[in-house]
Amino acid sequence: MNKFFGDLHVLKDINLEVPKGQVVVVLGPSGSGKSTLCRAINRLEPINSGEIEVDGQPLPAEGKALAALRAEVGMVFQSFNLFAHKTIVENVMLAPVKVRKIGQDEARKTAMQLLDRVGIANQAQKYPAQLSGGQQQRAAIARALAMKPKVMLFDEPTSALDPEMVQEVLDTMTGLAKEGMTMLVVTHEMGFARRAANRVVFMSDGEIVEDASPDEFFTKPKSDRAKDFLGKIL
Ligand code: ATP
Ligand code: MG
Repeated sequence: MNKFFGDLHVLKDINLEVPKGQVVVVLGPSGSGKSTLCRAINRLEPINSGEIEVDGQPLPAEGKALAALRAEVGMVFQSFNLFAHKTIVENVMLAPVKVRKIGQDEARKTAMQLLDRVGIANQAQKYPAQLSGGQQQRAAIARALAMKPKVMLFDEPTSALDPEMVQEVLDTMTGLAKEGMTMLVVTHEMGFARRAANRVVFMSDGEIVEDASPDEFFTKPKSDRAKDFLGKIL
């Protein structure tokens, strides 16, 4: 796919597959196009050329069919975007009730199971502002999971968190990966990339410069751009 912002070519012939059940971690310097890629996958950002498929189905450009397939893609961003005036459990119930037309009781039951899975069932009746950043981010993950997505996209889910809360969110993500969730994860957490990723994709200037196993990428990066990047962060 290709994507321009005006004259700026932000995604250059990107060709990326996230196989079912795998975790692909996207690394790259600031401005390399990682967030744009995440948004483009969901068509939150229109693309100029190319195709997107979810679970083997082309993602239509608009309309009801887009909404239906988009519901299969869970997104978790840097900011938690929870509804401030709804409790945590209500936040998790919202989309299943509205979009999937699930009954309140069933939606609540599923929401509680998901909150339990991310370790915050005891926070269910609180409002987002009453939770720590790490707890809010785990609530955001539970909310995305409530739609039973086929794939989860994470765009720097821990970068707005205080250091002591990063691990609990990474642990939640590692748990999801172990359960076989298909995941595309943009992160600067190299430990997570090493441990949880099946593949590491390195982006620079809108291009995929390397696509390798974590072991290969971290021990034998091929390009100067990747070496330079790793030199700065490791
Ligand atoms: P970071 O690590 O800082 O989050 P990133 O890799 O996610 O960076 P993007 O946010 O995808 O980078 O941005 C890629 C390029 O596109 C940058 O040059 C950015 O300035 C530009 N860009 C992003 N959003 C827009 C927009 N809405 N309009 C114009 N240019 C944009
Ligand atoms: Mg970004």
